[in-house]
Amino acid sequence: MVFQSGRHFLQIPGPTNVPDRILRAISRPTIDHRGPEFARMTREVLEGLQKVFKTSGKIVIYPSSGTGAWEASLVNTLSPGDKVLMFETGHFATMWRNLAVRLGLQVDFVPGDWRCGVDPRLVEAKLAEDRTIKAVVMVHNETSTGVVSRVGEVRRAIDRVGHPALFLVDTVSSLALTDYRHDEWGVDVAVSSSQKGLMLPPGLGINALSEKALGASKSARLPKSYWDWEAMISANQTGFFPYTPATNLLFGLKESIQMILEEGLERIFARHNRLGEATRWAVRAWGLEINCSNPEEYSNSVTAVRMPLGHDADALRQLILEKFNMALGNGLGKLQGKVFRIGHMGDFNELMLAGTLSGVEMGLALAGVPFKKGGVLAALDYLANSQK
Ligand SMILES: *Cc1c(COP(=O)(O)O)cnc(C)c1O
Repeated sequence: MVFQSGRHFLQIPGPTNVPDRILRAISRPTIDHRGPEFARMTREVLEGLQKVFKTSGKIVIYPSSGTGAWEASLVNTLSPGDKVLMFETGHFATMWRNLAVRLGLQVDFVPGDWRCGVDPRLVEAKLAEDRTIKAVVMVHNETSTGVVSRVGEVRRAIDRVGHPALFLVDTVSSLALTDYRHDEWGVDVAVSSSQKGLMLPPGLGINALSEKALGASKSARLPKSYWDWEAMISANQTGFFPYTPATNLLFGLKESIQMILEEGLERIFARHNRLGEATRWAVRAWGLEINCSNPEEYSNSVTAVRMPLGHDADALRQLILEKFNMALGNGLGKLQGKVFRIGHMGDFNELMLAGTLSGVEMGLALAGVPFKKGGVLAALDYLANSQK
């Protein structure tokens, strides 16, 4: 590798750029995870995360990736053979489905085209015809496709048929990025992790629970040990964990929550809305296609851009990495080679977006991809004109 000066542009849709404040918070000597300082910190981060999820319910933090928090959400609430309703919105929804199947759950996996979100009317129809479904399981922001499903509307669909199913939602790439209201939307288990909107390195898996989810956990019979909520919640009561937690990541989480609350959730959502919209202005001006086919479901944290037929997204990404020291997200699963993804989430602002889009525009030209110039200018105009 040739030395490249200046900052690397990490514009994948997670892990996201870790701000200096968080890096400094993590870069401290590890402390005793059974001592008083640690116990104070545990209480602070659990209370802080309640604000971020907008819940007064319990929060559970694992030393794990998001996948661990997926597994925890299922093994704590369900029993072997239970019927669950899931939706093929993209790669992450598919991986969560595969996990559910391996655990012995009976999954009704509603097919999708990887370009739109969960259809609330379909949820209503499915639930109306089957009272035995134990859980409705969905991904809020499908990071592989750049599509946001409407969690609040799905909740209303469940309520319209008065169905008793639990409601499980993956918020990994929506938490602290896109409006998410755990209690108001009656979500029973939210799944999240450290490396997207929380701006931390990977390594923490998170669940937010409702009272109904805690109730379900009393009779759930899927085997669990590491992921058992009960052990976590009872140890957390005194500020501790049932096994060694990721101490230094928790230092970072405390700082991250402070930063999020300083900026304010609503301002964070508005900032991502502007950055997402500017990105879409650029893509349209390039004459390229946004993968998300429903404008009501555009993701403000990631944009998946479809490549013109016969052009490989991975070759473009490779070139941009080599020439401009910028990493973009690859197409996952069915979209491999067909899309590249621009991450615009977390510790990110207008000028970082300008640099990111400039790298893409130069890359498109150098890779010989047919496109129209002017995407960067269109984005800059949007950003300048939408200043308050
Ligand atoms: C990043 C991401 C995950 C997390 O998976 P890891 O196990 O941390 O790799 C899960 N769901 C979504 C929607 C994601 O974007």
